[in-house]
Amino acid sequence: MRSHAHPPTHATGLLRAARATTLRRIAGLTGHVDELVAASLGSNADDEHDPEGATIAFERSQLDSLVRQAREQLAEIDAAEDRLAQGRYGLCETCGLPIALGRLEARPTARTCIACASDGARRSRRSP
Ligand SMILES: [Zn+2]
Repeated sequence: MRSHAHPPTHATGLLRAARATTLRRIAGLTGHVDELVAASLGSNADDEHDPEGATIAFERSQLDSLVRQAREQLAEIDAAEDRLAQGRYGLCETCGLPIALGRLEARPTARTCIACASDGARRSRRSP
């Protein structure tokens, strides 16, 4: 067995749990989308002038963006599993130091350590 820069022993479990949560979220969201579509088909097709139709369209676009986020999360989980397979999981992609276990537990797909993440956030005000 090769010795890696020790990833948390339960990294596989963390990622598996994150994947299950994300898949459940996608299933729930797409279920909602289906309901909305059914609801909008059921209402008088005149959606432009129907306030309910406008609400449905709004909810639909909110749901679509949530689904998109969840799918991106899924892609992050795939990438994290690749890193795990290659023995690079849990190492910061910026400075190469191990990422704190607490951070990985809260966010198993984290690519950077807390210090680099907050540096990046300061530089580019993007979401965490
Ligand atoms: Zn770092």
